[in-house]
Amino acid sequence: MKIDLDLHIHSSFSPDSLVSPGEIIRIAKTRGLDGVAIADHNTVRGGITGLDLNPDPDFIVIPGAEYSTEYGHVVGLFLSEEIDVKGRKPQGHTLSPTLPFEDVVNAIHAQGGIAVLAHPFQSREWLPAHVFNGAVKVDAIEGFNSRAGTRAYPNANSLASRCFSEYGIPALGGSDAHLSWEIGRAYTRIDLGGVSEGDVCLRDSHSLVKEAILAGRVECAGKQTHRAVVPLTELVKAYKRKTYHRMPYFVLKLIVAMLGSVGLRIENAQRERANGKNPPQQQ
Ligand SMILES: [Zn+2]
Ligand SMILES: [Zn+2]
Repeated sequence: MKIDLDLHIHSSFSPDSLVSPGEIIRIAKTRGLDGVAIADHNTVRGGITGLDLNPDPDFIVIPGAEYSTEYGHVVGLFLSEEIDVKGRKPQGHTLSPTLPFEDVVNAIHAQGGIAVLAHPFQSREWLPAHVFNGAVKVDAIEGFNSRAGTRAYPNANSLASRCFSEYGIPALGGSDAHLSWEIGRAYTRIDLGGVSEGDVCLRDSHSLVKEAILAGRVECAGKQTHRAVVPLTELVKAYKRKTYHRMPYFVLKLIVAMLGSVGLRIENAQRERANGKNPPQQQ
């Protein structure tokens, strides 16, 4: 039996999404998914709420959360409580504190979760090998994230798939949806082995699904999201945080993104200014 899950969705428990966990479940079902992972920024509350709300034995909700580390975003799946890891406070308008990679992975493993490196090459072209094969390493990467190519590196997903072949770790798919229409744009097809439909209650099959992911019985697929979702999400964040003075700037970015590739050039120039020196060259 094979099931299709979108393994990276943000709910209204994130500061930059308005979609409730119940709405995520409803929409995911209409799009033919067998389940979702709700992985909010720095909290597992959205995922736990979704888990408690789901009445359907043929649909699975995996509680998760997404953390910023020095090697990028790490999604913990199959979490049951918040992790207790301290890090640097968020700077400016960023959402998340930067937490030590090893502490985050260890904390996820300590509660039986899976650590997934999300959109590994969204804003970098290289990562050290120990992230994938060191003593403390991720269990999987996102081989396809629908938003990965909307930022600095349009080829982010192909870099991720190259990395997947090199280290042979499972590659998962997730939409990284913050807006309702993004749900299901990417998914992971998971082979549950000899299990047939009707044999199991999918809602309660967390161990089975976790086992299949760790064994690498997965395939990922999806479609890239339009880059306009980035300023749209920033608008949602400004609205929720009541930083209304930032909204005109993001409306402008939205218009630019809608008009085409000019948005990419603006972002690269901003990054260049922020780095203050030679940014990595785009391929
Ligand atoms: Zn992320
Ligand atoms: Zn995310």
